[in-house]
Amino acid sequence: MNEFRPLNTGVHRASTLLFANTEEFLKRGDRLFDGYMYGLYGTPTTRDLEHQVAAIDGGTRTVVVPSGLAAITLPLAAFARSGGNVLVADCAYGPSRSFAKTFLARLGMTTEYFASGASSIADKIRPSTRLVLLESPGYYTMEIQDIEAIAREAHAVGALVMIDNTWGFGASNMFSHGVDICCTALSKYASGAGDLCMGSISVKDEGLFRELKSFSSNLGIGASSDEAYLVLRGLPSMRARVREHDDRAREICAWLAGHPEVERVLNPVMPADRYHERYRRFFNSGNGLVSVVLWKATIEPLRTMIDGFRHFRIGASWGSSHSLVAISEPASSRNVDVWPSGQYIVRFHIGLEDIGLLKADIESGLERLARWKP
Ligand SMILES: *Cc1c(COP(=O)(O)O)cnc(C)c1O
Repeated sequence: MNEFRPLNTGVHRASTLLFANTEEFLKRGDRLFDGYMYGLYGTPTTRDLEHQVAAIDGGTRTVVVPSGLAAITLPLAAFARSGGNVLVADCAYGPSRSFAKTFLARLGMTTEYFASGASSIADKIRPSTRLVLLESPGYYTMEIQDIEAIAREAHAVGALVMIDNTWGFGASNMFSHGVDICCTALSKYASGAGDLCMGSISVKDEGLFRELKSFSSNLGIGASSDEAYLVLRGLPSMRARVREHDDRAREICAWLAGHPEVERVLNPVMPADRYHERYRRFFNSGNGLVSVVLWKATIEPLRTMIDGFRHFRIGASWGSSHSLVAISEPASSRNVDVWPSGQYIVRFHIGLEDIGLLKADIESGLERLARWKP
């Protein structure tokens, strides 16, 4: 069998792992962080994925977990202490916010929000601040925090800095800007097919890794090898795919910016964007996401526009080859940012279909919107 050497790591399914003797069995706990002791805690497939994600993030260690959401909630819960405080960027992913509001509150943690475009959080930081959760660019609204300045302020009181880096996976090194814990939804471009959920938590510090791995193992959380295998298939082509999505999104943004029904295009890769300078400091590529604020961005006109699309299908998540559209009303999920109530953001994911068809689809949608003009 020695001559069978497949290119890719296979799918290793296991609960039971076998040991040579009693001594090895009794000492199996030593293998939690490296090596193999029980299927839940790691297989050659999940460990391979962890090594590859750590390298992409510029970290040293990664824990893969069953969803992007778990990649955020797990560190929040692992480092929560009664009486502590967590500071969260106001643009954070909705389910991350609700986790803070319900579960962290029950643990006795207070949560406070800071502006999504903050360059400093000095006025919010307290001695009890244990964690700062960043998200850049913000979910739907695309703000970028001054990651480096905020990390310095947080570290001055001994707080840990986490970032939801789903947008910037493969296009950033958050550790070089002071981030301690870099979280990603691998469900997006890493998998690239829209057919699974998976998340990763990367760190540079071995102590943090051990705390996170012990905590997730204690909770009984482990990633499935079948799904880890699918993400491993997506990774080698990820940069090339994302570059293509980015090129197409830039073309769509430039075209939309001149359109009379478009009030604002939100994509920090574009030089006219408010956050372009920060984009250039913290990221080296964009992707297929394009958010827009449209004329009459209230629900009725948008419904006629969106429900008539033929190529942009309605759905959350993004990162596959398919074009998608989603909408969100920022005002309803913000504590400190100011957004007009009832105004929606439309977010396109520009897929790999014929770009002419995609433009024509958006064009006819904007015509449906224009019919609402008096
Ligand atoms: C998709 C997404 C998540 C959640 O990932 P799941 O795997 O769907 O749980 C978290 N944060 C951001 C910014 C996302 O886009």
